[in-house]
Amino acid sequence: MSEKLLVIGESRDGVLRNVTFEAIAAAKKINNDAEIVGVLCGSDELESLAQEMIYYGADRVVTVKDEKLASYTSDGYGQAVLSIIKDEEPYGIVMGHTAIGKDLTPKIASKLESGLVSDAVDITHDGDEVVFTRPIYSGKAFEKKVVTEGIVFVTIRPNNIQALERDESRTGEVQDKAVDITDLRTVIKEVLRKATDGVDLSEAKVVVAGGRGVKSADGFKPLYELAEVLGGAVGASRGACDADYCDYSLQIGQTGKVVTPDLYIAVGISGAIQHLAGMSNSKVIVAINKDPEANIFNVADYGIVGDLFEIVPLLTEEIKKL
Ligand code: FAD
Repeated sequence: MSEKLLVIGESRDGVLRNVTFEAIAAAKKINNDAEIVGVLCGSDELESLAQEMIYYGADRVVTVKDEKLASYTSDGYGQAVLSIIKDEEPYGIVMGHTAIGKDLTPKIASKLESGLVSDAVDITHDGDEVVFTRPIYSGKAFEKKVVTEGIVFVTIRPNNIQALERDESRTGEVQDKAVDITDLRTVIKEVLRKATDGVDLSEAKVVVAGGRGVKSADGFKPLYELAEVLGGAVGASRGACDADYCDYSLQIGQTGKVVTPDLYIAVGISGAIQHLAGMSNSKVIVAINKDPEANIFNVADYGIVGDLFEIVPLLTEEIKKL
């Protein structure tokens, strides 16, 4: 068996996403003795990103630089990554369970006729077996998976596996690989991205989420202020998005984003099952709701019963004093 694991890195606007470093740590959890080979695709300079992967634990990084990889397409990235897999013959591959990870990894797995353990939140060992824990039934239960044959192919949920300490003394080789990317079925000419303020919601350590109780787009302003003092991001329930108080890109839940921050503050959110599916695995949950019977209190570690328009500004003021 090859003692090598590939970690597919992901960047946005020239910066590696934190889940890339978590994926390196996940690969080490699978086999601490294996060579960890980072994989990066793109059209710009990749050397400095490759160095970052090495500082976070990769032993070597293979990069594929091509104009056709300027924007992500499963076709282009699929060809590049498959070509590296063919060369390297790893026994395992790890990537973040992000929008790109969810799109790219099944495609590669099917080409390799391999299985895929998706959305793992923990990796442990039972004797010789590597055990992956993943949520099922919208986070209401967890199942344990063991890969018994073929490539150990896994995506990991952001914010669950602690990245290693960045260590600038680490060294490793960066190898450019030429891949002939052909027959792209999708060519992206322009990427339009909604401007989001500050921290990326999926990777945020603190999320302040508002629901229909916030009552208007203006009502979200105190939530942004609280998120700012906590260095966090703002999210929302579908109720708030449907009411046009905020953009759908903020929606958390079964049909929105899944987040697992260290701290989740649910403000004026009732706690419908579909909302819980996106946040119930957060490490600490604080709920602010005027209804003491609201379902959100059943999953909350700390509950504040009261009017959010009084409580949120008070919290912000107190936190500013710290
Ligand atoms: P409400 O249920 O209206 O709750 C508002 C809360 O605010 C209440 O608990 C109220 O007590 C409180 N409140 C009001 N005023 C104040 C105040 N001044 N101070 C303090 N508290 C106050 N929902 C999601 O969130 N995410 C999803 O991904 C999602 N997917 C869905 C998929 C399907 C197929 C379906 C059918 C539904 C889905 N939903 C989803 C919708 C979900 O069922 C709920 O309708 C929605 O989550 C309710 O949003 P809410 O809690 O903001 O609103």
